Amino acid sequence: MTEHAAPPYGVLWDRALGAYLGLALGDALGATTEFMTPREIAHRFAAQGGVHRHIVGGGWLKLARGQVTDDTTMSLALGQALLRGHALGRGFDTQLIADGFVAWWRGKPVDCGNTCRRGIQRYLQHGTLSGPPNDGDGGNGALMRNLPVALATLGDDAGFERVALAQARVTHHHPLSDAAVLGIGHLVRALLVGDDMSALQPRIAGFVQAHRAFRFTPYPGRASAYVVDTVQTVLHCFVTQPDFEQAVITAVNLGEDADTTGALVGMLAGARCGAGRLPRRWLARLDRAVMRDITDQAAALLALSRHDAALTTF
Ligand code: MN
Ligand code: MN
Repeated sequence: MTEHAAPPYGVLWDRALGAYLGLALGDALGATTEFMTPREIAHRFAAQGGVHRHIVGGGWLKLARGQVTDDTTMSLALGQALLRGHALGRGFDTQLIADGFVAWWRGKPVDCGNTCRRGIQRYLQHGTLSGPPNDGDGGNGALMRNLPVALATLGDDAGFERVALAQARVTHHHPLSDAAVLGIGHLVRALLVGDDMSALQPRIAGFVQAHRAFRFTPYPGRASAYVVDTVQTVLHCFVTQPDFEQAVITAVNLGEDADTTGALVGMLAGARCGAGRLPRRWLARLDRAVMRDITDQAAALLALSRHDAALTTF
């Protein structure tokens, strides 16, 4: 357990916005190389040294430049549901979260993972807020969208764990998904309230010690949507690349689930460097409406949290 004095609001705000915009930037950059192999990426971007480094859209979803995918829009849907619950006096109500996922799905998102779709359909048919534990639920869909919970519950670790698991299990009920949602969530929360890398390293070591499946040194080299591959890739890129841009570029050039690994590396690295140090040339290309929604929502979610309390993180 580490105690942090509450950071000044301006510092916290910079880190929180950095995490949320970093998530969207990694998503927008990585969507171009999603489902490609590193070899295909090197060939396709041979004219720029074999490295994909510009937000250009395209990819298998044929995105516009600066457009984001489900990783970002599902996060926004979750954040909106948390705010709605508070406005209605219902707290962080899981049914409102499930309703938010339904509304998101009915809005015809550019992409929706199979496990997310199955979970949303189960809720529509049966009204259940969680399916039974399922070996097939080990994808990264619950992990990719959890940042709003981390922001809204800052200063309340028990509340964080309760709401994070509840939102996760609407679509994913698997011990490794649960572990990743909590573990990566605690890491981003520690960065938000003031951990530097020397303070964070023992937390990362503890997480990997508790869940050996996520060991990432030596890096096994897979970046698929299986939550183990995703967590290994995200931690490998985040830990070995101190610079935001290099960390995200490293992730998305591994291909496979590049938008999601890019998003999660962007979230952690963005919390580390703060919004003020995100690359201007990438921010300039990010979809304007997404940028506005993220900025508004990050402020509203922090306002729900107990960010001004003395903060304890695991
Ligand atoms: Mn996506
Ligand atoms: Mn993806």
